[in-house]
Amino acid sequence: MTEAAPLSAPVFRLIGEIADARGQRAFVIGGYVRDFYLHRPCTDIDVVVTGSGIEIARELGQRLRTNVSVFKNFGTAMLHADGMEVEFVGARRESYRADSRKPIVEDGTLEDDQKRRDFTINALAWSLNAADFGTLVDPFGGMDDLERCIIRTPCDPDTTFSDDPLRMIRGIRFATQLGFDIEPETFDAIRRNRERIRIVSAERIVTELHKIMASPRPSIGFELLDLTGLLELIFPELHRLKGVDTIGKHAHKDNFVHTLKVLDNVAAKSDDLWLRWAALLHDIAKPATKAYDPHTGWTFHGHEVLGSKMVPAIFRRLKMPLNEKMKFVQKMVFLHLRPIILAEECVTDSAVRRLLFEAGDDIESLMTLCEADITSGIDAKVKRYMQNFALVRQKMQEIEEKDRIRNFQPPISGELIMETYGLPPCREVGEIKAAIKEAILDGMIGNDYDQAYALMEKLAAERGLKKR
Ligand code: ATP
Repeated sequence: MTEAAPLSAPVFRLIGEIADARGQRAFVIGGYVRDFYLHRPCTDIDVVVTGSGIEIARELGQRLRTNVSVFKNFGTAMLHADGMEVEFVGARRESYRADSRKPIVEDGTLEDDQKRRDFTINALAWSLNAADFGTLVDPFGGMDDLERCIIRTPCDPDTTFSDDPLRMIRGIRFATQLGFDIEPETFDAIRRNRERIRIVSAERIVTELHKIMASPRPSIGFELLDLTGLLELIFPELHRLKGVDTIGKHAHKDNFVHTLKVLDNVAAKSDDLWLRWAALLHDIAKPATKAYDPHTGWTFHGHEVLGSKMVPAIFRRLKMPLNEKMKFVQKMVFLHLRPIILAEECVTDSAVRRLLFEAGDDIESLMTLCEADITSGIDAKVKRYMQNFALVRQKMQEIEEKDRIRNFQPPISGELIMETYGLPPCREVGEIKAAIKEAILDGMIGNDYDQAYALMEKLAAERGLKKR
């Protein structure tokens, strides 16, 4: 689909033809129209028709000889055509009652349907009927808002947000993705209605959070969530990072501000959604580990350990996956201080070897996170850290070439030790195995079978073990 001719694919004319023959109106509406004017690629087409959307979709499916998925409960149908996913829905009028979350839904006109859309820029529609094919229908000034880069609700914002409170986070998501401003009345209504977010499921919320995280500058979204009072309700751990404590001459930095800076720094370097989540959570345990020492000032000892332990509960509550993605985030949070400690102290071979061993294939991601974590405003300090990181990277490369530590499997397994000395699983086996691993990581012996075997024999002899 070329940008100049958004309705040039044959399927659009065909939909219009079918609708005309049936005496129905048909329009492309929502994201596809909005994204065309914003020069953003989009292959998801929403078609709204007066009357039944399912019937038109069925007829189109027959004409194109393609499968139609029908979702009777929602009154929608979907098919693929011209490389696009086209979804059909009948125009609806929705009315909400204060005592129920479920709206009363009735058949409606296009304008009824546009009214129940979340934002003016999402309510734009193009006609598909032959008589006015391609005509823009924009009763709420969506084009003006697109041009002025404004997020605004088509109706009274209190009603729009109260009807479906997820729209508050969707508004913040669009502001973040598109770099738009939320119009003041709409913004104030989000603040007023924030408590309503409690009725929205975690699954719907996290879908929006992921989209905020995937934006070029995710910090915009979290700042807006904070300013509207939503952050405290949906992500209290992040909210707790806010603020600065001062005792005497000692003040610590605002960890919320710092976290958002790190998040943007990572986003500038990597598209990896989960590394971005790691950036968001890297200091999450700072409030819980904060202590004051009159000599050294504020400390956050062990925040990386406690932080990695907090990750599963946060993922569970937000209904995020509890799989290897979560483990990756935990690992990044757990290790995020290691390269910097290394860079601050003398960069020894054995420290680099240990880091490579623990980070494994995630070492590049870890280095990206750690470099992003340098948010000091003092240029000389930043320069020194970056130079030290360059040294760490150089050492890593040398050691990796020499010792192949990255995907290190100790050359002597527990099974081999048990077999050689006729042992059941026991403490000695664990000790010998661990001592061999430590010796390799410390550079006492090389990462090879013969040297490791010799060390095993020595350690076994010291323990009075005899070969079978
Ligand atoms: P993206 O494609 O970036 O995820 P989108 O808004 O274009 O965003 P959908 O979330 O699939 O994609 O929504 C499609 C259209 O449906 C929107 O443009 C909007 O008109 C409408 N819409 C979606 N969710 C809501 C909602 N909660 N309230 C009102 N209208 C909505």
